[in-house]
Amino acid sequence: PKMAAQAANDMNIVRRKLTGYVGFANLPNQWHRKSVRKGFNFNVMVVGESGLGKSTLVNTLFNTSLYPPKERKPPSLDISKTVSIQSISADIEENGVRLRLTVVDTPGFGDFINNDESWDPIVKNIEQRFDAYHEQENKVNRMNIVDNRIHAVVFFIQPTGHSLKPLDVEVMKKLHTKVNLIPVIAKADTLTDEEIGEFKARILADIAHHRIQIFEGPRYELDDEETVAENAEIMSKVPFAVVGANAEVSTVDGRKVRGRRYPWGIIEVDNEEHCDFVKLRQMLIRTHMEELKEHTNNSLYENYRSEKLIAMGRKQDMSVFKEVNPAVKQEEERSLHEAKLQKMEMEMKMVFQQKVAEKESKLRQSEEELYARHREMKEQLERQKQELEEKKTRIEQGRPLEEKGKRKGFSLR
Ligand code: GDP
Repeated sequence: PKMAAQAANDMNIVRRKLTGYVGFANLPNQWHRKSVRKGFNFNVMVVGESGLGKSTLVNTLFNTSLYPPKERKPPSLDISKTVSIQSISADIEENGVRLRLTVVDTPGFGDFINNDESWDPIVKNIEQRFDAYHEQENKVNRMNIVDNRIHAVVFFIQPTGHSLKPLDVEVMKKLHTKVNLIPVIAKADTLTDEEIGEFKARILADIAHHRIQIFEGPRYELDDEETVAENAEIMSKVPFAVVGANAEVSTVDGRKVRGRRYPWGIIEVDNEEHCDFVKLRQMLIRTHMEELKEHTNNSLYENYRSEKLIAMGRKQDMSVFKEVNPAVKQEEERSLHEAKLQKMEMEMKMVFQQKVAEKESKLRQSEEELYARHREMKEQLERQKQELEEKKTRIEQGRPLEEKGKRKGFSLR
């Protein structure tokens, strides 16, 4: 045990005795024996403005204080702060089943005066995890692939009672194609039951309106009625109205419960009549962990990977195809040359036709002129001939001219 403790120490494993029921001992029912021996790993990211109770809820969820409280500064005084990503792992053991839980926090989210692109580090972190997994997949030795991909994002919504903030919508839209989004209403103890009901409806309507894809539970056919009912019951609580508390308080009837004490009474974290915390935990750890991991692997990761490959391929197509392949280049040049020749031929034909037309019209014109002159000459000749004919007749008949008197006794005879 000493050596084991040392080893655990070296691996930076937090070993704790759990104080309450967590419920992941149920996991063997979800997985094969082999993975039971190796243990499970599950990576959850919590996203939301700071101060919404993220670390408190994570501690409540796993019933440990594996998640140390953060130093807090008034947000408005800290404008230059960037969203820093913090990742904490712990091995938790229950009934001989090991679960390596990693919680990734995004502490400063929404703290800035200008929140433009404040989600960028979050998206990048998620993508880097996909890339790292992809790299491992491409290696020859694929035996011990470490899956650091984010399997679920618990998205904290401020309990305003109104609707989703534009920033929430924007961030959710950046995340929904890459992770299983699980929206929760933070600090639900600040709203009445009625307000929670209305707020839930409003949030779901906003989510639908903005076409945000949230985690919807198992997509396959559930076999037995009990599982179907259990799933429906859990999904009906989305967005989970949660309350976090690390401290135990005593109720009037002497029970010790995890909860928050108010002048009018106690809100019990583990009481389903008080909040949806139990349902959220049930979903994450007992009933839907496998589904969350499978959907991450089969759908979200696959999409990311193929889109990336397509993008890379497209870039290659554009450059490689032309520059590297001489046949393609030659063919392209040949068709260009042919097009040029064709154009020249067309132009020549047009010029030729024009010239021919001009010549033809000129010829026609001169022909007409010739014809006219010919007619004129013919008429002239005709007239002369007629005159001569007349003269001849006159002479033959010896008939005096009309203006005999004018003549000076001249006679041909
Ligand atoms: P984080 O910045 O989102 O991680 O928030 P913390 O977990 O550090 O909590 C911020 C403050 O909110 C602390 O004072 C908590 O005690 C308080 N808090 C956490 N959870 C709840 C809750 O469910 N209800 C109420 N009323 N307060 C809470």
